[in-house]
Amino acid sequence: MEENGVRDVIVIGGGPAGYTAALYAARANLDPLVVEGFQWGGQLMITSDVENYPGYPEGILGPTMMEEFRRQAGRFGAEFVTDDVTRVDFSERPFKVWVGDDLYTAEAVVVATGASARKLGVRGEREYQGRGVTYCAVCDAAFYPDKEVVVVGGGDSAMEEALFLTKFASKVTIVHRRDEFRASPIMVDRARANDKIEFVTNAVVEDVVGDERAINAVRLRSTADDSTWELPAEGLFVAIGHDPTTSIFLDQLDHDEAGYLVTEPGSTRTNVPGVFAVGDVVDHTYRQAITAAGSGCMGALDAERFLSEQHGHPEAALTAPRAEAAEV
Ligand code: NAP
Repeated sequence: MEENGVRDVIVIGGGPAGYTAALYAARANLDPLVVEGFQWGGQLMITSDVENYPGYPEGILGPTMMEEFRRQAGRFGAEFVTDDVTRVDFSERPFKVWVGDDLYTAEAVVVATGASARKLGVRGEREYQGRGVTYCAVCDAAFYPDKEVVVVGGGDSAMEEALFLTKFASKVTIVHRRDEFRASPIMVDRARANDKIEFVTNAVVEDVVGDERAINAVRLRSTADDSTWELPAEGLFVAIGHDPTTSIFLDQLDHDEAGYLVTEPGSTRTNVPGVFAVGDVVDHTYRQAITAAGSGCMGALDAERFLSEQHGHPEAALTAPRAEAAEV
């Protein structure tokens, strides 16, 4: 930190991307401050076993993994603010980051606020999260060998998750609220051609049914005639899309129609020099802990390079170009 309290780097977000950015920045002596969010840890806090992160051959609980990421960044000097950023000003450097009335400033910012899976908002969904209700087939499909499961959604994610689940489950029922699909026809055709996949259209999940241990059925409601029935299922995979956590950046950083931040191809640079974006906040394709962590590493390296260029060329450091937000 400089004498005026201006940090080299502020990392916004406390998931795999943010903590990895913090780890790399800390080991580069950039004394990062991580504004990690009130509910730090990101999407891994709502998963159970993570079995696809290399280096954990026996698997590891998602929350435990995030604690270890955090501890590792802290070991090299990263500091944490366990609260949500409420406002930012990236129009000039040092950049300003507010947490309520508290103002933090930095020469570079790494945005790693992630995304969250859309929830159905039905009875039992939250209660059985991690005990039958899940939002990631790649993460959790292997826990359902020879079981009957339900996938909710009519987009490409739902088709892809259903197809992936057929490697493990004995039967996969795709439940969609309409009888037309948002998914590309080729994905729907593939799902239709798979013997293990059945479709229930014009229906929504009304209730998740189970005992104190796990779920055993979902109650469906017809959107045509309001009738309800129970469909046996040991797993409910919700695949109705994700939302990036970007509302406080949208007027300052380039983003796509869905609100994901846009970076220069092959880098983590946003449209504001000195502001970098990493992890799920820019990625609606891969969305894995390992890809988020890799992207966090890239963000810290890009920030480090940016700062050393500024220090080498002091005249360039006086002001950053004004941030002009654009939807691209
Ligand atoms: P999406 O395209 O937005 O589809 C979401 C689906 O969930 C829609 O069918 C929607 O129904 C349904 N839905 C939304 N809210 C619901 C609710 N509350 N209750 C019940 N159903 C609800 O999201 P996505 O499938 O995650 O895909 C996101 C983007 O990634 C898309 O551009 C997609 O093409 C892309 N993607 C591509 C691939 C691939 O090419 N392999 C794989 C995955 C994702 P309605 O249709 O009625 O609105």
